[in-house]
Amino acid sequence: MNEQYLSKRLKAVVSYIPKGAIVADIGSDHAYLPCYAYNNGLIKGAVAGEVNEGPYLSAKKQVEKLGMNDAISVRKGSGLAVIAPKEVNVITVAGMGGGLIRDILEEGKEKLEGVERLVLQPNVAADKIRIWLHKNNWLLISEEILEEDGKIYEVLAAERGNDKSLYQNDKLAAFLLGPYLMKEKNAVFQKKWSHELEKRRKIIKQLESASNNEEKVERKKLILQEIKRIEEGLS
Ligand code: SAM
Repeated sequence: MNEQYLSKRLKAVVSYIPKGAIVADIGSDHAYLPCYAYNNGLIKGAVAGEVNEGPYLSAKKQVEKLGMNDAISVRKGSGLAVIAPKEVNVITVAGMGGGLIRDILEEGKEKLEGVERLVLQPNVAADKIRIWLHKNNWLLISEEILEEDGKIYEVLAAERGNDKSLYQNDKLAAFLLGPYLMKEKNAVFQKKWSHELEKRRKIIKQLESASNNEEKVERKKLILQEIKRIEEGLS
């Protein structure tokens, strides 16, 4: 990847950034995403945030190499600590687990002032993000599921707003599978959730052959509920 060629996954993230935005890309690693977006005239500027020294230095090197220092500010720090309130209008967080992305949003809540759109790409546990968005008055406006190099990714875009109509019935299934994705049910979605269903059925078998205690009974109950939701989502 570089400023000219971006992975299919990160291109999908970029496609949800409104033209002319000022973006904070949190966990930017090599800053490929903001460099690509700026190089293609898609954004006005960006902050590339990194918590770890190695990726922070890679991002700095990349931005300097391209002479984009005036447009892309590379900063070291955790989550949204690298931005000031109202500094950016779009935040992207890609390539992390859903739990970590949710924690970054939760811990940086006061920095979300002025932010109009979130574009989030969890590698796993997208449900944790959907629940956070729901609880914090962010409306999921679009979802995408895609496969690249044998891995399946989801991209979620959200804006401020009320999502009552989005989660009318089947709220828990929609958190897990994605309200738009479960309507569309494309081939990648079916592949992902057939696999997830199989994984859960295997766990249930293992739990059934093991001796029972309260914790196992509770775990089995939760997994059986998820199986039911996935079966509904796939049907
Ligand atoms: N966003 C890039 C992508 O999608 O290709 C890089 C993803 S990489 C797997 C995750 C990056 O997030 C790492 O470079 C890591 O250092 C950074 N990271 C993890 N936790 C972070 C946090 N709390 N704040 C900022 N960056 C973080």
